[in-house]
Amino acid sequence: MSRRPGFPARLEPFAGAPKPRGNLPAAAPAAAPGGIGLDSQAVRLRMVQKLAGQGIADVQVLAAMSLVQRHRFVDSALVNQAYEDTSLPIGLGQTISKPNVVARMIELLLGGRREASGKLGRVLEIGTGCGYQAAVLSRVAGEVYSIERLRSLHEKARENLRTFRLANVHLLFGDGMAGYAKGAPYAGIIAAAGGDAVPAAWLDQLAVGGRIVAPTSMPGGMQALVVIERTMTELKQTVLETVHFVPLKSGIA
Ligand code: SAH
Repeated sequence: MSRRPGFPARLEPFAGAPKPRGNLPAAAPAAAPGGIGLDSQAVRLRMVQKLAGQGIADVQVLAAMSLVQRHRFVDSALVNQAYEDTSLPIGLGQTISKPNVVARMIELLLGGRREASGKLGRVLEIGTGCGYQAAVLSRVAGEVYSIERLRSLHEKARENLRTFRLANVHLLFGDGMAGYAKGAPYAGIIAAAGGDAVPAAWLDQLAVGGRIVAPTSMPGGMQALVVIERTMTELKQTVLETVHFVPLKSGIA
């Protein structure tokens, strides 16, 4: 399992649109593929206004959603849909969740908690996928450990995240069902894939005061968002709304 990517330790919160590559004439506009160019900030702000209208209230989550350039995580053919409230394919049958679900889950993960730094402490994400949610998490958490079981997606995420230079994101290749003991205990564990039950390893690796947010199968076959909180004495579970996530699978591929 690789530990941390060699990102330079510098954060570029308002990186703007990607720089033109290749031999473009000097006057060419700096546009991303598919026409989202320098105004992608405006498109994201509209997305964030919509999220606020849908009930996302945590300003730190809204700020993080406004900063991360979602269009840089999807295939060029899908760039124009990057800021719509829709899930999008990222290859190998996997999907990037719609912005509303990403924001909702991170808001639940934070649960109003903050360390003195103004951020949540260490967070474990299961299912890196294209790396988008890891980038959003990096704005609200001190350290993000994100694990992916499909090598090619792990590598894609590494490539996608390279230019963002997020020193606090650690991409791992492995089976997230076992968590990642070396980074434990976690203030938050967030799953982007749904299993039949929350794996015991995640419960073991959760700090006192920590929270797990995970899509989990319910009796009858539906999937719901489950929040588990560890107090000094118990694990408290809350079952929330129905969701549709790709399955949590064991092993690597
Ligand atoms: N957060 C991602 C969404 C990825 S979709 C993003 O922003 O793009 C869910 C991902 O979970 C898939 O890539 C899938 O391969 C991965 N996954 C499923 N089971 C897993 C497991 N046991 N360990 C690690 N990753 C897993």
